[in-house]
Amino acid sequence: MHPPGIESPRVLAPYIRIGVQDGTLFLGFGSIRQSIRDRGLWRPLIHLADHFREPRTRAEALDFLLGPCRVEAARAEAAMSTLERGNCLLSVSAYDPQDRYSRHALFYELSGADAERVQRRLASAHVLLLGCGGIGNLVAVTLATAGIGALTLVDADHVEPSNLTRQFLFTEADVGSPKSQVLARELRRRNPGCRIRPIVGAPTDTEDLRALPEADLLLVSADSPGLTGLVNAHCVDSGRAWLNACYVNDIAVWGPLVLPGITGCWDCRPLTASAPADEPELAVLIGRINARYQAPSNGPVNMLASSLAALDVLRHLGGFGVPASLNRRMGVWSHDMSVQAQPADRDPYCSTCADVRPATPRHRGAL
Ligand SMILES: [Zn+2]
Repeated sequence: MHPPGIESPRVLAPYIRIGVQDGTLFLGFGSIRQSIRDRGLWRPLIHLADHFREPRTRAEALDFLLGPCRVEAARAEAAMSTLERGNCLLSVSAYDPQDRYSRHALFYELSGADAERVQRRLASAHVLLLGCGGIGNLVAVTLATAGIGALTLVDADHVEPSNLTRQFLFTEADVGSPKSQVLARELRRRNPGCRIRPIVGAPTDTEDLRALPEADLLLVSADSPGLTGLVNAHCVDSGRAWLNACYVNDIAVWGPLVLPGITGCWDCRPLTASAPADEPELAVLIGRINARYQAPSNGPVNMLASSLAALDVLRHLGGFGVPASLNRRMGVWSHDMSVQAQPADRDPYCSTCADVRPATPRHRGAL
């Protein structure tokens, strides 16, 4: 829990490190990094950070700088303010190294969120996964081990030997068994606190989608033709968040995260290429060529797409940070590691979502 006021004791966040490079002192690394070139601030700041290895109130820490350290008042206040920026100080209860979720708690605190609140939100969330293959496997295990409260796993397929290069929760002994059931068994072994429901089947129309359990978010990682359009219409209609995660040959792709009534939906603008409507003869040939497509599915690209999609799901449902795929379809081109953000913001005249208003408090909580 965050302190009620600045007089509550706080400690230096365990993720804070200090280093000097090329005449600049770096306090913290990553997105919270502060670069301090004013050398007069180094000594009070380092003494202060060292002092906060034990719980201290702000007043105690300032007394330490002004007294034993003999730092002048303006410098002491500057050092204190620097340490208070960038989520450098945590409440005493924010980090319990023995807690199952303690390392994730530090990640949430790093982004400025209250880790206890994030974990509670995740524990109350239900995610429905359409597809338990390469991406579904890895998203499911990431969410289950992070403490998502409930997962529904939907897949009609059975495990095949060619799945084992990337669907890492399956083994040779599972070949022939339903994917959703094997995945459920493996997830329960890793986090019994997550309620898992496997469903052997694949939705093919709106009625099928309506028959599935209600969830806070749908993640689609199945490559059935037309499924994204069906899911988009269903989710916009029912006010539920949804996210697509896939790969396009060697590009890891996720998004947009659709929050009906808030963000763009799948229909707001064309996100994928299609056959030319004004060339029917060529369209037939293109359809014939594309029908023989077999994805070159690759373990590392599956891992890229699934990990970044899962992070956005956790951000949205946990209420920390900002999902990278809000109003964007994201792609990491694995051949050169460039990142593409395809605009997917809302079209006020979209035939699917123009009249939709925000539906659930969970959507508002993440923005
Ligand atoms: Zn739309």
